[in-house]
Amino acid sequence: MKVVRFHAPGDVRIEDAPEPTPGPTDVMIRVRACSTCGTDVKISRFGHHHIAPPRVMGHEIAGEITEVGADVTGWRPGDRVQVIAAIPCGTCAECRRGRMTVCPNQVSMGYHFDGGFAEHMVVPHNVLAVDGLNRIPEGLS
Ligand SMILES: [Zn+2]
Ligand SMILES: [Zn+2]
Repeated sequence: MKVVRFHAPGDVRIEDAPEPTPGPTDVMIRVRACSTCGTDVKISRFGHHHIAPPRVMGHEIAGEITEVGADVTGWRPGDRVQVIAAIPCGTCAECRRGRMTVCPNQVSMGYHFDGGFAEHMVVPHNVLAVDGLNRIPEGLS
């Protein structure tokens, strides 16, 4: 499959990569849309202290589930989903107070995990654990 990988500031490449393999607590999606935002432009030019290259970029992700890990419930192939970009830990004091957006332990798609500038992407269990996979309503393209 094709991916867009960040190698270094100013060095972003379209490359061939093997399809990823989801673990038993992960979900795999076929990416149908992944936006480029200002952060992606900044990363491509200057890098980011949370990205250890090479890394598949892209964190504004929507797609369709193609595989569901054996230990995952509530999802099935064909479900249309949006994936959160920043993933809170779900267990720290801020998260337990419902303030997940200021979780100090956040990790992110396209930073700590390979992102959505790819034909297929693993949605890691970290996303599922904090309800970060959102169903796209019927009637919404
Ligand atoms: Zn963004
Ligand atoms: Zn937290």
